[in-house]
Amino acid sequence: MKKVILTGDRPTGRLHIGHYVGSLRQRIQLQNSGEFDEIYIMIADAQALTDNAENPEKVRQNIVEVALDYLSCGIDPEKSTILIQSQIPELFELTAYYMNLVTVSRLQRNPTVKAEIQMRNFEASIPVGFLAYPVSQAADITAFKATTVPVGEDQQPMLEQTREIVRKFNSIYGETLVEPEILLPDNKACLRLPGTDGKAKMSKSLNNAIYLADSEEEVRQKVMGMFTDPNHIRVTDPGRVEGNPVFTYLDAFCRDEHFERYLPEYKNLDEMKAHYTRGGLGDVKVKKFLNAVLQEELEPIRRRRKEFERDIPYVYEILRKGTEAAREVAARTLAEVKKAMKINYFDDFSLINEYTNKINR
Ligand code: ATP
Ligand code: MG
Repeated sequence: MKKVILTGDRPTGRLHIGHYVGSLRQRIQLQNSGEFDEIYIMIADAQALTDNAENPEKVRQNIVEVALDYLSCGIDPEKSTILIQSQIPELFELTAYYMNLVTVSRLQRNPTVKAEIQMRNFEASIPVGFLAYPVSQAADITAFKATTVPVGEDQQPMLEQTREIVRKFNSIYGETLVEPEILLPDNKACLRLPGTDGKAKMSKSLNNAIYLADSEEEVRQKVMGMFTDPNHIRVTDPGRVEGNPVFTYLDAFCRDEHFERYLPEYKNLDEMKAHYTRGGLGDVKVKKFLNAVLQEELEPIRRRRKEFERDIPYVYEILRKGTEAAREVAARTLAEVKKAMKINYFDDFSLINEYTNKINR
């Protein structure tokens, strides 16, 4: 069986370091591993509209921002197909058919959707499209027959939902769809990177993100202003590293060689954590180190972004070509789905013959 990746992002803002460690960094590795036959990376604008219906301009503007983030991180359009969801109507046809295989109560139980409904104050009036976006995600994943979906931890319920839809579809209509596997980052800190404010998730919607496109100075200011252990007041106070986002970011980004370069008094992060826990290590010093580590990782990304920014029409051309190629694949899957569901009337000559005979009998 072919090995196929599908993953993507909502164009609700520029991508941040949470996206980077949660999914983007791994995508680049997978892309360059040469182990996959096809890789699709989707800009999920239709999904973004499910909770931004009144704000189409935001979605429109962020499509190119997300594309620039991809390219600057090393997504290579020769190896990965970048596509825009809304431009592939086949995905919405699939969604419509999958909706019949899912109950409202099943959607309401989805813990990620539940948390997002709360965060957006949708409790009293949930847009139907928002509640059903996991179904549309199942359409996206299955349209490309994805075997592997590299995403952050919050996407686990979506993958489970997709697998249920695939199993149900195949059991009713016959083996047609491929059941995908989720691929989470192995580094625990990357599963759900917290915000600079210490909140559970760095998110475009929460104003607590360090963006890949932030300038050197913006990154520095955000790092120096980060939430840490609120009880670590004097340098001599013992500090907590658990739940301290500065250390979580270090867990996600820092390698032993960074100590050699920027803070040789420690050999590794464990030594630094031990000192912080004991007391005697100030937040400013830790933050300065984190800043150095982040700048080193972000500098080449920032530089490549500047290059791609010089030729925006080229970026749109990449999106157009990728979307066209992806649409062909989705159309093939839709045709198979309709055949399995026996709704391919005009291609179904046996039906025409059957009825010709039946009626003229
Ligand atoms: P929104 O608030 O609009 O939902 P978002 O920041 O949650 O935006 P998405 O586009 O929904 O971003 O998610 C894109 C991908 O990035 C998903 O695979 C998701 O799991 C991952 N991701 C998002 N935020 C984080 C995070 N803080 N840590 C790790 N992975 C993340
Ligand atoms: Mg999200």
